[in-house]
Amino acid sequence: RAKSAGGNRFELADAEADARAITRHGLTTALPTALERGEFFIEYQPLVHLGDGSVRGAEALVRWLHPQHGVLGPDRFIPLAEHTGLIVPLGRWVLEQSVRQARDWRERHAASAGTPLRINVNLSPCQLTHPGLVQDTVEILQAAGVAPDALCLEVTESALIGADDALLKPLRRLADMGVDIALDDFGTGYSNLANLRRLPVSILKLDRSFTQSMQRFPADPVDLKIVEGIVSLAHSLDLAVTVEGVETGAQAEQLRILGCDTAQGWYYARPGPPDRLHELALADATG
Ligand code: C2E
Ligand code: MG
Ligand code: MG
Ligand code: MG
Repeated sequence: RAKSAGGNRFELADAEADARAITRHGLTTALPTALERGEFFIEYQPLVHLGDGSVRGAEALVRWLHPQHGVLGPDRFIPLAEHTGLIVPLGRWVLEQSVRQARDWRERHAASAGTPLRINVNLSPCQLTHPGLVQDTVEILQAAGVAPDALCLEVTESALIGADDALLKPLRRLADMGVDIALDDFGTGYSNLANLRRLPVSILKLDRSFTQSMQRFPADPVDLKIVEGIVSLAHSLDLAVTVEGVETGAQAEQLRILGCDTAQGWYYARPGPPDRLHELALADATG
């Protein structure tokens, strides 16, 4: 008896699920050697001041050049690295590379009129609970000769929901040293806005979903009100607002009018090699 088309579809779906599980397993076991073999690399995406369009710094985004699968984005391997604990040495490597890169940019820009470039680095929740975080960060900054206020650590809103004092303590120590803490993907985590006062953050990174809704013209009036409200609350608490995922000039203009401070997205530049960031910043400092 011939199988129904539906049955074949299920078999196909099963085969794909199996293939994905096999790949996940393969990637997980390959992670430690990948770090030893230097298969990870970092791309930098500029952070642009919405008021004057100048490049203020960059976010470090890690990638894996896998010998068989080619370049893999962080969504493919960060969850695996978190699961196995490799995120701690991998995250430390990203921080060290990024801070050294920031020192290099700042040296090469010392002669130009622009503001010193800053570096944003993502922290996973596992790194927050790791006892070495503060000391590693201090050592990395000192070894590179970079001032703490050149560094911004991004932590997702969801990682800090319901955070107790033990979790906030290392962040508070870093913030007291002058490191900026940004709340990443803000607006997706349903956190209590009043809770913001309790967190040692100085920057809100508004999630891409808000930026996307500014794409439509006219933008959804409710979304406009929400962004307006978040910006005014943030500013009244002395927090700066960065927007991510800006893909068009219309979005940039709308978000600028709404009072957002800094933007990041393909409209300005895709994530790229460090020299690209250097060229963009230099071009803009020399007009
Ligand atoms: P994220 O921190 O929210 O980073 C922004 C993501 O949006 C990046 O994806 C970036 O490439 C992408 N993006 C930037 N501009 C645009 C745009 O205009 N349109 C669209 N559609 N996307 C844009 P990416 O590089 O794939 O990184 C994904 C996530 O992986 C990051 O989200 C971050 O949470 C995580 N990640 C990246 N690097 C690291 C790292 O070194 N450590 C940890 N723990 N997480 C990392
Ligand atoms: Mg981020
Ligand atoms: Mg983000
Ligand atoms: Mg995001």
